[in-house]
Amino acid sequence: MPNAYQNMTDAALDAAIAELEAQAADLRALDLKLDMARGKPSPEQTALSKPMLDLLTADSDLSDQGVDADNYGAPDGLPSARALAAELLGVDAANVSVMGSSSLNIMYDCVEHGYVHGIGGEKPWCQQGEVKFLCPAPGYDRHFTVTESFGIKNVPVPMREDGPDMDVVREYVEKDATVKGIWCVPKYANPTGVTYSDEVVRAFAALKPAAPDFRIFWDNAYAVHTFDGEGDELLNIFDALAEQGAEKNLVYEFASTAKVTFPSSGMAWVTASPADMAELRRAFSAMRVSPEKISQLAHVKFLKDAAGVAEHMKRHAALVAPRFALVEEKLSSGLGELGCATWTHPKGGYFVSFEGPRGSAKAVVSLAKELGVTLTPAGAPWPYGEDPEDTNIRIAPTYPSLEELGQALDVFVVAVKLVSARLAKAERA
Ligand code: PMP
Repeated sequence: MPNAYQNMTDAALDAAIAELEAQAADLRALDLKLDMARGKPSPEQTALSKPMLDLLTADSDLSDQGVDADNYGAPDGLPSARALAAELLGVDAANVSVMGSSSLNIMYDCVEHGYVHGIGGEKPWCQQGEVKFLCPAPGYDRHFTVTESFGIKNVPVPMREDGPDMDVVREYVEKDATVKGIWCVPKYANPTGVTYSDEVVRAFAALKPAAPDFRIFWDNAYAVHTFDGEGDELLNIFDALAEQGAEKNLVYEFASTAKVTFPSSGMAWVTASPADMAELRRAFSAMRVSPEKISQLAHVKFLKDAAGVAEHMKRHAALVAPRFALVEEKLSSGLGELGCATWTHPKGGYFVSFEGPRGSAKAVVSLAKELGVTLTPAGAPWPYGEDPEDTNIRIAPTYPSLEELGQALDVFVVAVKLVSARLAKAERA
């Protein structure tokens, strides 16, 4: 359907462009320096976890169920940390390794394990010629960077409102043995905010991969990051696997407290089937003696259990929800009636995914930059940075203050309108 600019007479369109150019000039004169690019918690959010820093002192008992946090040992992490991590994902603590502060780091280690040593006794991927990973897009650029860095071919898969297009996924995974993995963010996906439906989760669990060394990289980064009411329910993929009967070695699931406590100083973990965990443990044991357990101890003292995490996340929600509400308000009042854009309305996570007219995204990001607002580079959520339609922009509203966010969104709206109007004009030339 044509948008409002495409429907205008030539004279009305020229007048609209002139008016928008005047608005852009006014904004440029403000010399703004605003940032909507980063999926980072605001300083108020990280401040919520500062009391954790007071929980360990020189006098603290640093043992946890017989394990000393202040020494080597417990390669899978402290018992209490494993219990908390397992409870948050609804899995057995026996199948959980808690280590380091970054889940992305563990994902990298798992890809490296497949690439250098091989998964399930298969040849290492580096000896198998071209291998591929599926990348539901738009998705998380850092996932795609991990596989790209090994020379693995990233293949985009369309994202739908209830998760990746499973017909496409099934076709690749079940027919092509060079497909070794798929990157998934199953809850409040980065950047669409989509939570996979039960049907999609069950379709993942039912996959019969052509390659025995295929694994689903299930990055549940936003498992507890609801900011709107009850939030979305994600079917536990290990329960979906259990429904199938026979135990399958199919899923590596990851999570961290990066956006619960402190990004880059949280605790991260992985869980998988018992056989996959035994193999990963052997790989990890060559990489490190044991993980950083003092931070784990602080985390369990502070967060305690899943109920404690839920309470803490409500405090995050009180800060995050108004920012997402402002995005919704500014975009719908600024663009709602023009028919030139759509955007997502997530109930959790860190992003809104915005779709403008075909061929607009790069121009909008560059015009916004000129007007003082930094956005995530257009195309970043696609493998190799290539958005085929050049329509998608990731909006990250959590870090700026409400006032800054409001100004940044005003700039964004003018940029989208001006680029859309100019595109409508160019179509007529
Ligand atoms: N996964 C997703 C989907 C993310 O959005 C992020 C942070 N932007 C991460 C992982 C990074 O998590 P960590 O800090 O635990 O490596």
